[in-house]
Amino acid sequence: MRITVVGSGTAAPHAKRAQSGTLIEVGDVRLLIDCGSAVVLRMAELGLSWQTITHVAITHFHADHTTDIANLIYAWRYGQLPPRAAPVEFIGPPGFQALLDAMKTVFGAELLAGPPPIKVTELARGIPVPLADGVVLAALKVPHTEESVAYSVSGRGRRVVVSGDTGFDPALAVWADGCDVLLCECSLPDSMALPTHLTPRQCGAIAAIARPKQLVLTHFYPPVEAEDIMGQVAEHFGGPVVCGHDGWTLDLEEEES
Ligand SMILES: [Zn+2]
Ligand SMILES: [Zn+2]
Repeated sequence: MRITVVGSGTAAPHAKRAQSGTLIEVGDVRLLIDCGSAVVLRMAELGLSWQTITHVAITHFHADHTTDIANLIYAWRYGQLPPRAAPVEFIGPPGFQALLDAMKTVFGAELLAGPPPIKVTELARGIPVPLADGVVLAALKVPHTEESVAYSVSGRGRRVVVSGDTGFDPALAVWADGCDVLLCECSLPDSMALPTHLTPRQCGAIAAIARPKQLVLTHFYPPVEAEDIMGQVAEHFGGPVVCGHDGWTLDLEEEES
């Protein structure tokens, strides 16, 4: 399993951080979780194959997680010759189809008409989505927007959990228990704390319960970057921590399926 932070940023424009996007490759699955502004550009910049993504899963509908969806579809259709023929599956919380329908209103009905063939799957609560090749995507509702979820990707003996945008929630920590990698949003400093985002200390508190083998922080608003993020996380969590950046990659050895 390979995990790549494509975009580690937020709604705040940042020269070094594209908006939200994480690429997870396991078996034959190449899953992009979230697709905010500049994620498609950053994939090209990092030499990541945007052409062969098999699944796109959206954690919630905020613009910094969704605005490159149309660009990715147009890249597959018009950004290469011949256009992509292989099908792709888009996955999101209930309401995702309505979001895509609204995008069709803006960009034209042909947006989702292919090529490539696009299958849209809305999450049914508590029911995991099989991706392919023994790889399963599961979701957990988290406190951010009405529809927001965290994702867990399991396959080949590995499990990665991606928090999406979330407030502090011990249920997320319990759900992530024992995962190999926890990618956790780390939006704000304590002085700007909100119930809908995490501070470094809250990331540490979640990791203290979840006990991931590797904690990866992402989704930094500029004020939090002025903080001693590592020191504040370490007040609660003694395991390995890294501040993600665009292009940060980790390879996990897979077990034979
Ligand atoms: Zn966000
Ligand atoms: Zn958000």
